[in-house]
Amino acid sequence: GPNTRIAAVTGGNKGIGLEVCRQLASHGVTVVLTARDETRGAEAVEKLRAVGLADIIFHQLDITDPSSIATLVDFLKTRFGKLDILVNNAAVGGVEYLQELDASEEKFAGMDFDEMLEWMVKNVREPIDGAKEGLQINYYGTKHVTEAVLPLLQSSSDGRIVNVSSIFGLLRLISNEEVRQELSDIDNLTDERLNELLDKFLEDFEADALEARGWPAKFSAYKVAKAAINAYSRMLARRHPELRVNCAHPGYVRTEITMSSGVLTPEEGARNVVKVALLPDGGPTGKYFAEGEEASF
Ligand code: NDP
Repeated sequence: GPNTRIAAVTGGNKGIGLEVCRQLASHGVTVVLTARDETRGAEAVEKLRAVGLADIIFHQLDITDPSSIATLVDFLKTRFGKLDILVNNAAVGGVEYLQELDASEEKFAGMDFDEMLEWMVKNVREPIDGAKEGLQINYYGTKHVTEAVLPLLQSSSDGRIVNVSSIFGLLRLISNEEVRQELSDIDNLTDERLNELLDKFLEDFEADALEARGWPAKFSAYKVAKAAINAYSRMLARRHPELRVNCAHPGYVRTEITMSSGVLTPEEGARNVVKVALLPDGGPTGKYFAEGEEASF
């Protein structure tokens, strides 16, 4: 009916995103499951339809591709004339740059996440291309999708954005005090300044000066991109008091991004995201939620 809520989820073909789609649909929300790959996305939708969830629609979306974004926006506009919930879930980790590694490799079997990280840092150096790609997908891609659907969210009576963030995006992981200060001074931060900080990060990365400049050393681009998404969410929340814009850390979840390490199932991780997406009317905005509970950035 006309009161049915419409959600769009990025990276909905697997992991946490797929579970977010399933859970939102179980709550009576009509879900547009998006994926960059048509085949993987269509298969995911079939899976959900097979368990009786009819209100799931597939649409292609590569969050780094402007024409793909525009096509999705046209589709949403024509079909629904609004969007109630945007879940920015799509992201890449750092591990996919380890092409030579088999994700199921036995050497990771008994390791916890810290041991696994340590092994990787010892054995692999994240190349600059990987760092650039990490920012392009995880930060700029997410931002571009968000901006393109803003008018549709404003056509909703209760538009919401949930940015799937991470404890890896917390400000305390950035030891450079100036950067940390700028990222938390939301009143004075601008999009342009945020871009400049990210450019500076890439420069320092290329100059092999990450630690010297107080950037995170391990999975640096992933962490910096998530910190940037957090700051952007807070700016957006201020600019758009008519929307609810929040960040959600799902917990440490067994998906491809963690090479199936993690303590939570995708279902449990997704619950922490869906909880934020479905907060009661008039709820918080510009906030960060860690495993479903409000926490500080
Ligand atoms: P997965 O690797 O299982 O899923 C990532 C999803 O993002 C896939 O659907 C992938 O598509 C998609 N994706 C990547 N790049 C793009 C792109 N350019 N356009 C569209 N889709 C893209 O990881 P998770 O499910 O674990 O991750 C989901 C979110 O949760 C991420 O934002 C991640 O940072 C966050 N997170 C996860 C944690 C964990 O412990 N798992 C902890 C904290 C945060 P494809 O299949 O085509 O690659």
